[in-house]
Amino acid sequence: MQKQNNAVNKLHSEIMERSGQDFYNCIQCGKCTAGCPVLSAMDLHPREVLLYLQLGQEEKLLSSKTPWICASCFTCGARCIKNLDLSRIMEAIRVKILRPRGAACLSPGEIPKEQLEKLPQQALVSGFRKYTR
Ligand code: SF4
Ligand code: SF4
Repeated sequence: MQKQNNAVNKLHSEIMERSGQDFYNCIQCGKCTAGCPVLSAMDLHPREVLLYLQLGQEEKLLSSKTPWICASCFTCGARCIKNLDLSRIMEAIRVKILRPRGAACLSPGEIPKEQLEKLPQQALVSGFRKYTR
């Protein structure tokens, strides 16, 4: 797929640089999506994330809940025939969204008490690593 104009698709270079993944190598085979354990909760499938990056449709990506649903389980990367690590791409998209927000993106006080009591400690620690700088 032909690369788009950098000025128009600034997100391309940012995500590529942060993730170290050349998403233009994706051939849209769908093997990543077929193996994703949290696919049913996503509004964009992993394969579609790559497609929208290739097409430069950054609004769809930045407003999607998929990067936040991704559990960074590495299943997609293990299945990808092009050796693309989608978990790193998802992380790069999250950083792109969070960085402009400044220091604290999530504080304990923002989590409803009933959820705090149910969440395993490991999930809490992981959440704060993911959503704070
Ligand atoms: S790393 Fe994320 S996108 Fe990839 S299979 Fe796991 S949950 Fe799905
Ligand atoms: S498995 Fe790899 S090549 Fe196939 S759609 Fe997913 S990212 Fe693209």
